[in-house]
Amino acid sequence: MHAMLLARPGEPLKWTELPDPAPGPGEIRVRVLACGVCRTDLHVVDGDLPQPKLPIVPGHEIVGRVAAIGPGVTDFAIGERVGVPWLGATCGHCPYCRDGRENLCDTPLFTGYTRDGGFASHTIADARYCFPLGEDGDDAGIAPWLCAGLIGWRSYRMAAEGGRDRNFALGLYGFGAAAHILAQVAIWQGRRLYAFTRAGDGAAQDFARSLGAVWAGASHEMPPEPLDAAIIFAPVGALVPLALKAVRKGGRVVCGGIHMSDIPAFPYALLWEERKVMSVANLTREDAREFLAIAPKADVHCTVARYPLDRANEALADLRDGRLQGAAVLVP
Ligand SMILES: [Zn+2]
Ligand SMILES: [Zn+2]
Repeated sequence: MHAMLLARPGEPLKWTELPDPAPGPGEIRVRVLACGVCRTDLHVVDGDLPQPKLPIVPGHEIVGRVAAIGPGVTDFAIGERVGVPWLGATCGHCPYCRDGRENLCDTPLFTGYTRDGGFASHTIADARYCFPLGEDGDDAGIAPWLCAGLIGWRSYRMAAEGGRDRNFALGLYGFGAAAHILAQVAIWQGRRLYAFTRAGDGAAQDFARSLGAVWAGASHEMPPEPLDAAIIFAPVGALVPLALKAVRKGGRVVCGGIHMSDIPAFPYALLWEERKVMSVANLTREDAREFLAIAPKADVHCTVARYPLDRANEALADLRDGRLQGAAVLVP
């Protein structure tokens, strides 16, 4: 097999030939058809996240086909199309796992961070954390569902818990892969969607409007009505006070990323009146089952930029520099 391998954070990924991996008990070998590039991959490559497995094959939005099955796996057949997400494994017995919050497991494994991921021709995955994808939809078009879609969904559920349902005004800060997927689901559900981008990013604002956003503007602007909730996907802490300012009394601000720059000090008045700031960490398998069922109903279509596997560094650079509309996807 071959892979784009990160030896040390801060270095470019290197094309590497590796022996074909054999699946152990409970594992499957997946031939990768497409793997999305997520902002978290950038954080891994840039060294923003503590203690990655090194060397590591990044990538946790994997669409592939089962190529080999380890002992004890009964849920999957050879050739079946599957998705491999960020949550690679959990312990099953810590207080969080027992409480239905496996996303907070004390000893988890994360695909492309603490176990090898999908920037490769093949990968090994724990079958219990993989999902059947059926045959509908294009491989590259579905790949971003596996993280951008799932994390967006979990963030959205948290945001909506504080809302008035039908009459809901939702703001999305940072209109990249996660936002462009979630926008389609939220609009399909009848929410009014407000998109906030970097000042002057007319292309992203047009993109948001083309998907049905009722308003799109710069992140420092106030929307024409107070928001019921806001989700921040951009890794920019300065957006937290801006989003708090934009939400109504009792509104929620959900931070959807794994890493953010520092949040600047802000007046208590922005938090007063029961506004809430919260973060979303990882995903549960339940989140995935819900989202993978709802996305086809909402007719979610990802706008993707395809890159051959050996151009992974270019895809990462384009994401870092904000040159993408939608999601970057590597195709081996
Ligand atoms: Zn656990
Ligand atoms: Zn991700």
